[in-house]
Amino acid sequence: MTLTLNIDARRWRGHLKGFQEQIPGLVPVAKGNGYGFGLTTLADEAKRLDAQTIAVGIAQEVAAVRSGGWEDDVVVLNPWRPADQLATALLTDPKVITTVSRPEDLRSISQSHPTARVIVEIETSMHRHGLDPRQLTADDFGELWFEGWAVHLPAAGSLEEANRLAHTGIATRTGPIWASHLSVDDYRTFSASMPVPTYLRVGTRLWLGDKQAYRTTATVLDVHPIKKGQALGYHGVPAPKDGFIVVASGGTAHGVAMAAPVPQRSLRQRGVTVAQGVLDAVGRTLSPYAIGGKKRSFAEPPHMHSSMIFVPGTEPLVHVGDEVPVTTRMTTVVTDEIRWG
Ligand SMILES: *Cc1c(COP(=O)(O)O)cnc(C)c1O
Repeated sequence: MTLTLNIDARRWRGHLKGFQEQIPGLVPVAKGNGYGFGLTTLADEAKRLDAQTIAVGIAQEVAAVRSGGWEDDVVVLNPWRPADQLATALLTDPKVITTVSRPEDLRSISQSHPTARVIVEIETSMHRHGLDPRQLTADDFGELWFEGWAVHLPAAGSLEEANRLAHTGIATRTGPIWASHLSVDDYRTFSASMPVPTYLRVGTRLWLGDKQAYRTTATVLDVHPIKKGQALGYHGVPAPKDGFIVVASGGTAHGVAMAAPVPQRSLRQRGVTVAQGVLDAVGRTLSPYAIGGKKRSFAEPPHMHSSMIFVPGTEPLVHVGDEVPVTTRMTTVVTDEIRWG
């Protein structure tokens, strides 16, 4: 009995294809938990899209997309570092393109692995990784197979910044531009104006762009009536009212109810946090499980593979074997099974 990702195959693939048609030079990104779908599924979908290149986050993920049947070029997005032995071993792999983001790393690789394929990352207003191309000389590249420049912009990347940085790169050495996080319109404008080939690396808008195309469901594993004040769970906390404990699949191992910190800029967002804090304070945390059409409280914190949910009232509203919707964060959830519909 599992936590299940249900995919409407026709709808999802329709979205993937439609998105790809808008983005000439689309590079699908398959990294981490595979955006909830898993890396092998994404590798398989990228093949169906006839993508030329796939991007992964780290060296370890190269094998994962290959086990999904991927045989073409793989870009590793996180920049190479000297201590990373697997990333270093991949420098001799003819289908792997390594990202380099520091002048000393470029010089070191050009000495140790002169035939490696590299993309050099330019520092953007994100200030994550990257260098200023004007720091580099032709010697720094040695005989390396230069695949172009990476420009990884902040969430709503600006066209002006992409243009400026791309031109700074091209002035140092000509080569394709591998952009991230431009809007579709900005990317198309950018691509049309560049004197070199361009690519756009996309994960979220590609795989998660049509929210109606997939949903997560849990299986009801047990239902127990409970009286107000009766102790329950590992911690013996008393039931808040008469009602039912519904045990459903999905727990900490699946990343259920794990929230990443969100930037709290909006008043609404702060309101949500305050409301959740009030629930926490009275010992009832709203769960992501919907039972009887409504999100219910956790009876206690999620367990490894299942969660105990409290349903007040005289009817449990669900039975063992029923499936209930669960709201999951797709970049942290790991489901047990994919069901294609
Ligand atoms: C993860 C990543 C992407 C894809 O990000 P999404 O927001 O999921 O589209 C693109 N570029 C780089 C460098 C990344 O690390």
